[in-house]
Amino acid sequence: MGLVEKFLFEKRSARGCSNSDYTFAVTTCCELIGVVDDELHDFYWDAEDLGRAVSFLDGSVCPACSSSDWSLSHLDTFAQVPSQWLWACERGTLRDSDRERPRFQIGERVRVILNERNRTPHEGTILRAIWHFRDSCWHYFLQEGGAKVSKRYAAEDLVPAHQDPNTRRPRS
Ligand SMILES: [Zn+2]
Repeated sequence: MGLVEKFLFEKRSARGCSNSDYTFAVTTCCELIGVVDDELHDFYWDAEDLGRAVSFLDGSVCPACSSSDWSLSHLDTFAQVPSQWLWACERGTLRDSDRERPRFQIGERVRVILNERNRTPHEGTILRAIWHFRDSCWHYFLQEGGAKVSKRYAAEDLVPAHQDPNTRRPRS
């Protein structure tokens, strides 16, 4: 599909080969989006540290959720590429208007709104935001007291920690 700019990508990754063919892909287990080299079968899942790529030929588990039963499917549209990967996109392929910005930023302190979906109170910082391509919205992982909270949340499940958790946002 030619979404990933090969030259730019290899300048940062210092890996790959002349036949390397990069494309954006999403894990089937937890919908983490990264870049896959379809020639060498390397999956670059950390946009800030390409050295943490995993090979899915050697039985590696999913780097995000540790599932051993995982594979990748290619992304279909530019709109699904998360903001941390925008630098790797071919020039001119992405417009800002293609996707909403995440409501919460990495490191922002938030509290979980208790409701029928969320019965366990959590307060922590945003660890990672992932673009949920089927729902077309951002999902968030939290870190609380140095540990990752296993559940992931939609923006409507969270409020900034300085806000009263009982003040619900009106549903749109
Ligand atoms: Zn996973």
